[in-house]
Amino acid sequence: MGIEEKLPAGVLLTSVEKLVNWSRKSSVWGATFGLACCAIEMMAAGGPHYDMGRWGMEVFRASPRQADLMIVAGRVSQKMAPVLRQIYDQMAEPRWVLSMGVCASSGGMFNNYAIVQGVDHVVPVDMYLPGCPPRPEMLIDAILKLREKIMYEPLGANGRKMLQARQERGDVP
Ligand code: SF4
Repeated sequence: MGIEEKLPAGVLLTSVEKLVNWSRKSSVWGATFGLACCAIEMMAAGGPHYDMGRWGMEVFRASPRQADLMIVAGRVSQKMAPVLRQIYDQMAEPRWVLSMGVCASSGGMFNNYAIVQGVDHVVPVDMYLPGCPPRPEMLIDAILKLREKIMYEPLGANGRKMLQARQERGDVP
């Protein structure tokens, strides 16, 4: 009798999923990408005082091909939007986007024709972080919440949609 017949249905698959997600959440590398004043707080979070190495993300990558997380730190101008989208497209799957600060999330106080009124018009956003600017502790808190999401994300192309359905059912936080 094979091992899969002895185990309850889905046990092996669930374990592999947990292992893969654990390794993903333990090595989230951010893209070096700052747009405005929020980026100063992001840089502070990357310094030795906050020690992001505790979560395996002490390095920010200059190449989007080596990055998993785009932190949109600051307001997105209309001219910058296609560049931001190009960088996102160059990041390999799985990739995540964190919108840092009110400007990135909604345009903030820049309610004018030059600024994109929310970066989710350009790329899908996984985590929104309010504040102007959010302190490094708040950014770290948002990253830790994103890591929780990553842990529950089913593998495969439809992982995000399945996670959303699980969250709506209340099966996962
Ligand atoms: Fe600057 Fe505040 Fe906008 Fe961040 S949210 S980019 S700190 S104005």
